Amino acid sequence: MDALNRLSQVPPHQTVVAPLHSIYAQKQQKNEGLGTITKSCSIVDLKGKIYDKDKAREYRKSTTQLKERAGEILYVPNQKKQHRVCACGKCRIDGTAPVSVRYNATKEMASYSNLQWCGSVWLCPDCSYRITQERKKELSDAMKACRDKRLHVSMLTLTVPHYLGDDLRTLLKKMSKAKHALWTNRNSSGYFAENFPMVGHITATEVKYSDNNGWHPHYHILIFTEIKYDQEDIDLIQDELYDLWAEKCVKVGLGKPSKAHGLNLKVGSKDEILADYISKWGLAEEMTQAHQKIGKKNRQSLTPWEILDLSRMEASTKDKYGHLFSVYASAFKGRRQLFWSKGLKELLKVADKSDEQLANEHSQDEPQDEPQDEVFEDMISLSEQDWWAICFHRLRVEFLELVETDIKANGINTDFKAIKELLWNLKYPSDPLGSFGVEGCPLTHDL
Ligand SMILES: [Zn+2]
Repeated sequence: MDALNRLSQVPPHQTVVAPLHSIYAQKQQKNEGLGTITKSCSIVDLKGKIYDKDKAREYRKSTTQLKERAGEILYVPNQKKQHRVCACGKCRIDGTAPVSVRYNATKEMASYSNLQWCGSVWLCPDCSYRITQERKKELSDAMKACRDKRLHVSMLTLTVPHYLGDDLRTLLKKMSKAKHALWTNRNSSGYFAENFPMVGHITATEVKYSDNNGWHPHYHILIFTEIKYDQEDIDLIQDELYDLWAEKCVKVGLGKPSKAHGLNLKVGSKDEILADYISKWGLAEEMTQAHQKIGKKNRQSLTPWEILDLSRMEASTKDKYGHLFSVYASAFKGRRQLFWSKGLKELLKVADKSDEQLANEHSQDEPQDEPQDEVFEDMISLSEQDWWAICFHRLRVEFLELVETDIKANGINTDFKAIKELLWNLKYPSDPLGSFGVEGCPLTHDL
């Protein structure tokens, strides 16, 4: 059952505020006197890494807001099966257990337990980030294996001409055909076998959008070879491959790519190539600074997350950027972010894991706990109705922030009075006999 249906079926009257879990009571006893928490913005963990709390909170807020917007844009009224992103971080893993709040006292961050993540790499900024982090680790492992096997790496970028008004789905389809032809047609596969024999390759599909030139899908391909090529060889191969790529593009009905941008082949050290490859994904940490980036770039090279961010300023989900995001969503449905050629994962000993698997591997430990972190499980246990109210009012992040503020002010042994008031007000905003009116709710300005 999808989340929206499940959430809409929450019984209207259930327990008001769940009692604190017994584990919490035990933790309280053990940690009596822990008191309030350090006020510094960042702390250095035992491994020496800087953990920036403000950045982590900013990231949590912006990805959740973007995720809510993606869910709004992709929600289809009266449809039983909604897109998975609409339910991300709302459905429980174990339907018989409640959603609970845990607290990492070392990082001073609260998070929810027992929730499922959608695993949508293209449409959910939160899952995309989680998946991308794991894919980076896979690639880094692959590079280590390359060293052992004495393989060399280069990066091939393929682009095609594109114009405002081009249909993204059609562009992707034709590009995919042209790429397939490049690998398999007799003249080009023969060229590769003779002049640039590959052990395998990994293809990343990317897209950007500009108000002047429309959608710009392109491929970044990591190529693994046994031979080490120098720059002179690569320049020659690049020229010859360009002719083959241009021929394939024209054959499938695309325009002829420009000599300057159509095909680029780059060599370098494994670390340089990997860093460059990853930076092309447009999914990395900078995502949280989307606002600043959009201003600077003058909207000429927007990533899907920047499109989504711009759509948040629009009145309707049908307006320009909301529409662009839904066009992108439908064109990228079912595609893989990274495609490994047959046998390469086995050769480089990289496990084959799905996006959903990777997104959910860390659902239980966000912010990611280090072994030395002091973590309090089940600080607050939320009834179905509590959770429904938090999701309905879109206060998932604000609720965690309130928990963090409460603990900071009152220590780990807090009675969460403000939290109980908030939950009561969310569920019974117009209860004339209630002790707390809507006016008393600390977050009503956001409702
Ligand atoms: Zn998700």
